[in-house]
Amino acid sequence: MDWNLLACGIGGHVSYAPEEPGPRARVHATSAAGDAWRCLRCGLFVPGPPSASGPAAKAPAVRRGKELRSAFILRLFAVERFLRGILVALIAYAAWRFKYSRHTIEQEFNRELPVMRTVLNQLGFNVDHSKLVGLIRSAFTLNSRTLTWLALIAAGYALVEVLEATGLWLLKRWGEYFAMVATSVGIPYEIYDLTAKITVLRLAFFSVNVALVVYLVLTKRLFGARGGKKAYDARLRGESIMDSALAELEKPGPTAEQVAEGVADVPADGANVSADRADVPAGAANVPAGRTSPGSVMPAPPGPGPRR
Ligand SMILES: [Zn+2]
Repeated sequence: MDWNLLACGIGGHVSYAPEEPGPRARVHATSAAGDAWRCLRCGLFVPGPPSASGPAAKAPAVRRGKELRSAFILRLFAVERFLRGILVALIAYAAWRFKYSRHTIEQEFNRELPVMRTVLNQLGFNVDHSKLVGLIRSAFTLNSRTLTWLALIAAGYALVEVLEATGLWLLKRWGEYFAMVATSVGIPYEIYDLTAKITVLRLAFFSVNVALVVYLVLTKRLFGARGGKKAYDARLRGESIMDSALAELEKPGPTAEQVAEGVADVPADGANVSADRADVPAGAANVPAGRTSPGSVMPAPPGPGPRR
């Protein structure tokens, strides 16, 4: 699946006209239909005015390819965390309410139970063997203090889940760390729980949690995994169309290949850009082996050309 085209199809293309002539030439084309600007996400030249303009350094950081897929996966996890948070918040609220109106509820329950028993007996259910009725009966024996603790712990857990959901949905670095740490803390207890008894629900919760932790550490390179944040940022820059255009301009002089292609004048235009973007090649040069190095980036042809 081409995540770039999917995202552009849903949210529209993101083009940007840099003020500097060097990078500008690389994302601009003139066609029969007029001006066209290169989409920073899918790389296609889109006819019409650019979405925005300004200094090249201020170009929007656009998520591309794997990053888009990753954002989709993290938001799925965010939804799951949010639903979990809501469910636990309801439990906290129920425990709190139950603490204050236990006697009324107990009277009500004892009054209604015989009626329920008769009705359900006729349907073939034996209420006295029901796990739910047993659970409700044992709830009446809990004391006030236990109920308070139950409500507080549930409320705290709900808060953690909602925070995790927020951080993951917003795709923030703190959200990734928070979700990873908070989820890991619960895993030993979940393992203990599974050794006591394996149920489908426990197994499902456990699997989702382990999947989230592994996914975050490996793809987001948390705690220095796979080169850490430096490698992660370098990969993002390596995939950025605008940064690639700038890195291309950083090269000391035109290669024979470029001269042959007639783009020898471009680096001269970009010479003044190099001075204030001196940090770019340093960062881009850290792209791990196997990634496209800045040196092999193809100059953007003046028209819909080959994509990297
Ligand atoms: Zn696009």
